[in-house]
Amino acid sequence: MTQPNNLEESNRAAVSLVKQAEAAAQNEMAAVAAIVTQNTEKVLRAFQAEQVAARHFMPTTGYGYDDIARDTLERVFARVMGAEDALVRPHIASGTHALAMCLFGLLRPGDTLLSVAGRPYDTLESVIGLGEDNGEGSLKEFGVKYAQVELLDSGAPDIAAIKNAAADPSVRVVWVQRSRGYAWRPSLTLTDIQAIADCAHSANPRALVVVDNCYGEFTQTSEPLCCGADLMAGSLIKNPGGGIAPTGGYVAGKKELVERVACRMTSPGIGREVGSYAGSYAAFYQGLFLAPHVVGEAVKTAILAAHAFSLAGYDVLPAPNSGTRDDIIQAVRLKSPQAVIAFCRGVQAASPVDGHVVPEPWDMPGYTSPVIMAAGTFVQGASIELSADAPIREPYNAYLQGGLTYEHGKLGVISALSALMREGLLESI
Ligand SMILES: *Cc1c(COP(=O)(O)O)cnc(C)c1O
Repeated sequence: MTQPNNLEESNRAAVSLVKQAEAAAQNEMAAVAAIVTQNTEKVLRAFQAEQVAARHFMPTTGYGYDDIARDTLERVFARVMGAEDALVRPHIASGTHALAMCLFGLLRPGDTLLSVAGRPYDTLESVIGLGEDNGEGSLKEFGVKYAQVELLDSGAPDIAAIKNAAADPSVRVVWVQRSRGYAWRPSLTLTDIQAIADCAHSANPRALVVVDNCYGEFTQTSEPLCCGADLMAGSLIKNPGGGIAPTGGYVAGKKELVERVACRMTSPGIGREVGSYAGSYAAFYQGLFLAPHVVGEAVKTAILAAHAFSLAGYDVLPAPNSGTRDDIIQAVRLKSPQAVIAFCRGVQAASPVDGHVVPEPWDMPGYTSPVIMAAGTFVQGASIELSADAPIREPYNAYLQGGLTYEHGKLGVISALSALMREGLLESI
């Protein structure tokens, strides 16, 4: 096929490519439906067990002592996640905040934080004190040491090296990032997490296995706490908010650890007892209820994108038909800054909000290279909604995620392909 040179022609070519991709993706998509059904039932049972009722949707003010809306939501969430306890709060500003609370809540001067899936997500560099800035307020400033074990070339965890590193008696937190984030690597499976937890716990009885679960929730029928993890955290404007939660984050796991993190969330002595929300927790309940379905829509969108961009001649990760998924991210290696920009602009052009806006790369707080983002979302920056991010650095990978409905995800994939074709950047179809 020759290079289409106008809008209509590129759209037609993209639609036909996506049709082909959709046909090839049928088996993978059918497997997603089974996971969604099981998770929906799990969430429903938790709501019923905690007798969720209209009184839990009333707004609260002030200190928020004895806030039954908040406390019930946290119990429902803990049940769903297989946790002894959970903090689920609009006051947790983002995923990074939830993760930082865990680190500052558990680590003390002289302790070591051991990251076992290579370098952690970009925004954690400033939390740990790895960045080029002076590490103001970082763990490093508080005398917490940092060590890292790389993943094997295959992307699997290096269990022998982890066992060795975790045996250092100063190691207190073993940090596991489940999702690929902005890295070209597979997400860790629950089997990987079980193997990491088993070896860390046996090498060092002080070690606590903490999972960055961002983008992982509801992609499988159980969560990392069921596979040996002691604590996990994530964002409510990603998977577990179901696209409805307007803000927030969560921490879930062993009761004693959740209590310690709560002292860091508010203050020692006050912990989890305070925190009101005049906006009503209804959206958090409803979002959690919808989350299994919405995550399924996002995973199906990712599967479609894998097939479509692979047919278009790009390397994609995960590859089509490479097994089940442990996050909602689809990485596409676009090989040039122009292609990354066209891809993100194509996704943005398919957005229900700010669809007319043309995104540009910018120096985003907490990130080390300029980043371009397509985020035409109802909830600002919500990446459970169809969105794309790409750091402008070699080898120019773009990361597509989200999609509240599969149908919308499909339109986004068509729009991204069309944008590449229009710019003459799509080499082979
Ligand atoms: C999104 C993400 C974070 C950070 O969450 P924010 O809500 O953006 O602060 C951390 N780790 C991973 C793997 C993520 O995907």
